[in-house]
Amino acid sequence: MKPAPFAYVRAQALAQVHELLTEHGPAARLLAGGQSLVPALNMRLAAPSVLIDINALVDYAHIAADADCIRIGALVRHAQLERSELVAEALPLFSRAIVHVAHPAIRNRGTLGGSLALGDPAAELPACCLALEATLIAAGPAGERRIPAAEFFVDLYETALKPDEVLLGVECAPRAADAHCAFLEIARRHGDYATVGLALEARIAEGIATELRLAFFAIDRVPRLAPAAASCLTHCAIDAAALAQAKDALRQDLDPMPDVYHGAQTKLHLAGVVLQRALATLPLQRA
Ligand code: FAD
Repeated sequence: MKPAPFAYVRAQALAQVHELLTEHGPAARLLAGGQSLVPALNMRLAAPSVLIDINALVDYAHIAADADCIRIGALVRHAQLERSELVAEALPLFSRAIVHVAHPAIRNRGTLGGSLALGDPAAELPACCLALEATLIAAGPAGERRIPAAEFFVDLYETALKPDEVLLGVECAPRAADAHCAFLEIARRHGDYATVGLALEARIAEGIATELRLAFFAIDRVPRLAPAAASCLTHCAIDAAALAQAKDALRQDLDPMPDVYHGAQTKLHLAGVVLQRALATLPLQRA
């Protein structure tokens, strides 16, 4: 199929993007990597009358770090994240996750900002942002605001971004010396969207988790932290009883949504499976 007709503007500055968003309102859509938007246009699931291409805003296409913060611009391509030594060193969760996002051709164009703004509950990078307690930076005509990842994903394909806001990037604190991470997903084929996945960040001292953030994706209407399950696994050695309690607690944390192949109970079961497998990769004391 071909898309419905639309006008195209390649914006040269953030101010121009805001002017165009103000002028056209909901009839306008931002175009970043186009890897989700263009298929949606072609299938006529979306029919904006104006596409605002933001790819010339190169200020938001970099990864940078200082002592307090690692900043990843919204226009950083998935392939840039994948190849970044800085990310591998400072935020290895992203490096582990990114190879599960689609295929190399899509990763060459798709952007971090596009993935976060889309709000697909099966996407890997939103869950990483939750596990890393990232802060998302959005800019509207009146200025910038900072949104914690835990408040950004509101519902299925719905985020806290206002219609006239542009996502500029993400900030994460540098890793603590005792930080560990794990990333696991179950998918029908490598590169497919996950059936169920988990992005995990932990702080571990002498084999005991002192902090644990379990961000599940492809299960609920949004990527979801599982604090009840995490509390069963922190400040204790992990034995079979703790693991069973944690799996049970996932019922409180998650509200699984069936997909075309898997019912809600299967999804919940698989969440327990990825949790157990992810924990097995960490240097934890086992009773
Ligand atoms: P676009 O398609 O350009 O935009 C997506 C949406 O975000 C649009 O509504 C757009 O207006 C909005 N947007 C974009 N940038 C901004 C911004 N800075 N501020 C505000 N709004 C913005 N993704 C996964 O996570 N996991 C997968 O396994 C996966 N598999 C895929 C398989 C295929 C075959 C394809 C085609 C895509 C797949 N994707 C997958 C999606 C891919 O990761 C996309 O790149 C990503 O979802 C969107 O990024 P984009 O830069 O292409 O955004």
